[in-house]
Amino acid sequence: MDRQQEYVLRAVEERDIRFIRLWFTDVVGTLKSVAVAPAELESAFEEGLGFDGSAIEGFSRITEADMLVRPDPATFQVLPWRGEPPVTARMFADIHTPDGSPSPGDPRHVLRRALDKAADMGFTFYTHPEIEFFLFETPLVPGEAPRPIDQAGYFDHVADSRGQDFRRDAIQILESMGISVEFSHHEGGPGQNEIDLRYADALSTADNIMTFRTVIKELAAQGDFFASFMPKPLSRHPGSGMHTHLSLFEGDRNAFHEAGAPYQLSKVARQFIAGLLHHGSEITAITNQWVNSYKRLWGGGEAPAHICWGHNNSSAMIRVPLYKPGKENSSRIEVRTMDPACNPYLAFAVLLHAGLAGVENGYELPEEAEDDVWRLTDSERHALGIVPLPSSLDQAIDAMERSDLVAEALGEHVFDVFLRNKRQEWADYRAQVTPFELERLLPTL
Ligand code: MG
Ligand code: MG
Ligand code: MG
Repeated sequence: MDRQQEYVLRAVEERDIRFIRLWFTDVVGTLKSVAVAPAELESAFEEGLGFDGSAIEGFSRITEADMLVRPDPATFQVLPWRGEPPVTARMFADIHTPDGSPSPGDPRHVLRRALDKAADMGFTFYTHPEIEFFLFETPLVPGEAPRPIDQAGYFDHVADSRGQDFRRDAIQILESMGISVEFSHHEGGPGQNEIDLRYADALSTADNIMTFRTVIKELAAQGDFFASFMPKPLSRHPGSGMHTHLSLFEGDRNAFHEAGAPYQLSKVARQFIAGLLHHGSEITAITNQWVNSYKRLWGGGEAPAHICWGHNNSSAMIRVPLYKPGKENSSRIEVRTMDPACNPYLAFAVLLHAGLAGVENGYELPEEAEDDVWRLTDSERHALGIVPLPSSLDQAIDAMERSDLVAEALGEHVFDVFLRNKRQEWADYRAQVTPFELERLLPTL
């Protein structure tokens, strides 16, 4: 038993915690939770808790049905929205196979492997996400457009606002769970909000995103609205992205910063961006994993649709934010493709692998896109070497299927399960006769 495990056991006893939820995700990032009684915790730490994984996407090879859930004591937190008593706490868990090795189907393990690769090259990977989401009135009516809780827009201050109170309550809960929030505001769409988390190492950030989604859903349910991270819930309004700022550190030095270089970006940062662009199409199925994700990317509303980078250019896949003099540690890049319905463990893993491939192979950074790439013509974009992102889930999976980099990043097992899952989603989607066809085509054909 190590010190962190002992600390958790003591806290459980002293605070009279009755339920400890162990959290992990399946391949598409659905949160899974199993509650253990305090008396089981010690053996859960030591041997792991056995469960049947055969019904969980990604853990589903019948011969590997027996899985062990091993709580990570560093992630122990009381769940504040459950009230007290009885007090409920949670820990994230790693999934192991019965022989004790990490399960190849565990997304947290996929990210750990990517972080180990970065560590071998001397780097720690930091991320900070800007998470957008909508608040809708309940009940949702199946087949009808959801009704936003307000009609406000970007940065609007809304008097007596349910959205603002919601953000305030959510931030208090997050902070009480050790998740620091930097900014929050109304976003561009009606009922749309954004909350930005402080930067942390990528494994903590991925855990924090899972916690964030859960807190937002729980809190909304208590306040009688419905919170959604769907990338594009309203056709005529902007979608929800999860722009994420990335940087690599070597010890306590920001490896992306170089004083006096263009935009203060070091060679490592330029090569990292080049890697992300080079592998941009291949990783998009992971950063934007739903049929609906492509409606956001191709629906305007400041979502990027082209593989390019730019200094403070919000139409680019990668934006280099303005550098504030004296803030070496904040030199970073912003990936604007990701949406908040991705599996954050897998998304960070593929982003890191793509960026590191640029560093390992010394990729050259292409010219930056200075213009709003949306407004260029196809031939202007072609002349600048700017290619579009995949325009549908179908195209994205095709690009991923051909990618050695993504296969390596995810491992063969997750790579196969993910592709199979997404092919099925595309097939189900394509089989639908949509309202568009009924409204536009049926009357004339
Ligand atoms: Mg923002
Ligand atoms: Mg935003
Ligand atoms: Mg942003």
